[in-house]
Parts: sequence; structure tokens; C-alpha cells
Amino acid sequence: MTATHNETAAGLRPYKLLEGRFHRLAALNEAAGMLHWDMAAMMPPGGAETRAEQLAQLRLVCHEILADPAMAGLLGEAESRREELDPWAASNLHEMRRQWIHATALEPRLVEALSRASSRCEGIWREARPASDFAKVAPALGELLALVREAAAAKAARLGGGLYEALLDEYEPGGKTASIDAVFDDLAGFLPELRAKALEAQTRRPAPLAAKGPFPTARQKALGERLMATVGFDFDHGRLDTSLHPFCGGTPDDVRITTRYDESDFASALMGVLHETGHALYERGLPQPWRYQPVGQARGMGIHESQSLLMEMQACRSKPFLAHLAPLLAEAFGHDDPAFTAENLLALYWRVKPGFIRVDADEVTYPSHVILRYRLERALIEGRMEIADLPAAWNEGMESLLGIRPPSDREGCLQDIHWYDGAFGYFPTYTLGAMTAAQLFDAAGRADPEIPARLGHGDFKPLLGWLRTHVHGLASSLPASEILTRATGRPLDAGVFKRHLERRYLHQA
Ligand SMILES: [Zn+2]
Repeated sequence: MTATHNETAAGLRPYKLLEGRFHRLAALNEAAGMLHWDMAAMMPPGGAETRAEQLAQLRLVCHEILADPAMAGLLGEAESRREELDPWAASNLHEMRRQWIHATALEPRLVEALSRASSRCEGIWREARPASDFAKVAPALGELLALVREAAAAKAARLGGGLYEALLDEYEPGGKTASIDAVFDDLAGFLPELRAKALEAQTRRPAPLAAKGPFPTARQKALGERLMATVGFDFDHGRLDTSLHPFCGGTPDDVRITTRYDESDFASALMGVLHETGHALYERGLPQPWRYQPVGQARGMGIHESQSLLMEMQACRSKPFLAHLAPLLAEAFGHDDPAFTAENLLALYWRVKPGFIRVDADEVTYPSHVILRYRLERALIEGRMEIADLPAAWNEGMESLLGIRPPSDREGCLQDIHWYDGAFGYFPTYTLGAMTAAQLFDAAGRADPEIPARLGHGDFKPLLGWLRTHVHGLASSLPASEILTRATGRPLDAGVFKRHLERRYLHQA
């Protein structure tokens, strides 16, 4: 029996109601995002208390929308009539369910306990880190971990899959430990030898010259904005400002990126701006008609980071682009400097230097920092390791992965805020992003062999066009693994990234 028009309309009704509710949720989340940007980039310190209250109330309203008892019924009814939905609406419904699970899997008691334990632990960590005193923060971190394990179990029961995957899913939807293990183990086996060879090759080349500063902030900013425009950033739909920790915020139609400047060094803010521009182009490229629906939002942190690293590491640190950049530096800073040559920029931006601190790491050593954290946090969540064992396990892991041993916990397991703030399952997305970036850039270059050379003329249009079609325009309509497979012809593997590192760091190409 075929459904009458009225029955079909009745079947669609729960789904349409959901679209309305999720539209409201997305608009409120965007407003919270703008308030957060303002807090980080503009707000005077005296506004902190009221801003915290505004954000807390907005988050509460957002949570209430998802936790509304009617929501479960609407999702269930819409899902029971799924065959009446077109594929786009079916994907949207799938993403609605995912957001709902993450918002409602934890009892209010656990949500509150987690929030309290995270704030407390983070506060103690802020004192323990400079003092390199792990013992001081260990009890608070232990209490927080117990709650995070509880949260992982509650989410795993709803999502299916393992405990770690339940936490990972919030950042990398559908991410699987088996596929992460496969690519990370492959990389971990490859990197030590590559690193040794790259360091050896580096000794045979001149060390980079340091350019003579100062580099006034206003001039750095003007250069940053010029390069953002070159890459494809639309200043009618976004801004560049300053904040303590660089980030990309705002909304797809009003993307706010930030950076910080060091007047004695132009190099790091410049690449920082290009990195955030990659994030911004992704947000901006999400399909306009899908705004305010879950399926229209960015796919996850792995794909997001792939877009920033594709711009920063693959495109803007490429030989052709650095050659394009060199003369722009003399122009931007109003003087010539022997450091402003293409050769010197290569020496500067392709330098390998193993160190203890992840955020200062180069492209070759960064994955080792991430693999270490991924293995440790998984062991902690799965109950194979306890907090007391963390400092020793960290140091041993650094020694085996990077060949260096931190002299203190400040330069070891106390360095990153993530765990002390309750964020477990985030770290792998950095390196998944780096590998995805390499695979996408390689595929773009195979689809249009002109792309790398065009970058040398400051022409990013063909590259951006390819990304718009194969990544940005798909938003969350497919799983990340499917987006990558369709764009590049195969699932994520470490091979393209490994060849990229060999080409750049061994053969200087
Ligand atoms: Zn990033």
C-alpha cells in the first residue's frame, strides 16, 4: 500500500519539528561562539564575571533544547519513517541523534561532578606546572579520571564501541581505535629512522639566518591580512584579531581568526595566521543552504585540522609558495635582509629539532608527541594504567618514541592542559589531521598537476576550488573516512604522509 499524501506529511512532521529545534540550537551555539571570541579578543578584564554568567546560561539553554523529554520521542518517530526522507535529511537525522546522545548520555549528577572536578583540577594544574610538582595535582587528576571513565562507560553504552572511542567520538565522529592504531603504529615505526636521517642531512646545510627585527605588529598584521586574501579569505565574512591563544571562531558567515605577535620574530605569527586561515576557509566553505542544521556543520576535528595543516604545512611551506613569499617580506617590513630569501625561508620553516614541548614541535617530531599522548590516555581510560604511573610512563615513552628524556614533569606530563581540563580523546586528531592533509593535497595535485606551481604565483584558486568540492561542500553529510576515500580514492593510510616527510626533509623537494 502506498502512503497517501497526508500520511507522508504526517511522517515528515517529527523530522520537520526536529529541524526547527536544531536550527534554534545552532543559532544559540553561534551566539555563544561570538561571545567567546569577544571574551578572548576584545573584552576588558572587568567583563569576565558577567561574560562567564552569560555563557553558562546560554549553554544551559542549549542543553535544555537537547535534553527536552519530547526530543527522544521526536527522534524515534522520525527514525521509524526514515525511508521517507531524502539522503540529505537522513544524514541530518543521523547527526541529530549523535548530538543528542552526547548531550544526554550522562546523568545531570555526572555532568555537574565533571564540570566541578575539571575546574578544580585545572586550577591546581596551573600551580603545579610551573613548580613541576606532579604530586600536587595527582589526587585531583585521579578524581577527574574516575569521572571521565564513568562518562566513557555511559557514552559507550549508547554509542556502541569501546570506552576510548566513546570519548573520541565527540571530537572525531565515528573514529575507531583499530584504524588509529594501524596508522600510528606504522608512523611510530617509521619516524625514528627518518628523524635521524633528516637531522644528519640538516648538518650538511647552513643553519637558518635570523632576520633582524623588530617586526612591528602593525606590519606583521598587514602582511598576514595580505596573505589571508591571497589564500582566499573573504574579509566581508571575517576578521583577523589578536588573542593570547590563537584560534578560529565565529560563524561560517562571520569567521573570526586570531593570532599573537612577537616583534622580535615574524615567522611564527605568519604561519599561525595561515594555519587559522585554513580552518576559516573550511567553515566559510560549508554549504550555505545547510546552515543551522547538524549535517551542515564541520565534520570533526580531524578534518578541521587537515584543512589548517593543508594550508600551513602542505601549501604555504611548499617550495613554490616560500619563493613567492620571500620578496613580500622585504616589502612588508620596509628593508632588505639576507634572511628574506627563499633558501633561508626553507631552512627556517623546514628545520627539524626534537624537543620536549609538543606545541613547539616541527612537522617531523610532532606525530611522536601525539602518539605518546594517545597511547597513554587510552591506557588511562581503559584502566590499564593509573595516574601514579603517568610521569614514568611519559618519560619512557618519550625516550622510545623521540629518543629524549624530559628533565622534569613540567617539560613532561604536566605540559598540556587537555587532561587536567578533562579532555581525553582529543589528541589523535592533530596527527590524523596532518596525515589527512598530506593525502588530500596529494590527491588535489594529481587531479590538477598545476596546483603546486600555481601556489608559487600566489594563486590558490584551483586548490581552494578542489577543497570546496571534495571536502568543504560535504560538511557532515558523510563520515570523515568516507569523505577522504571519495576525495583521494582510498582510506587513510600513513604512506602519503611518510613520502611527504621524506621528500621534504631528506631530499629538500
Ligand atoms: Zn588547528
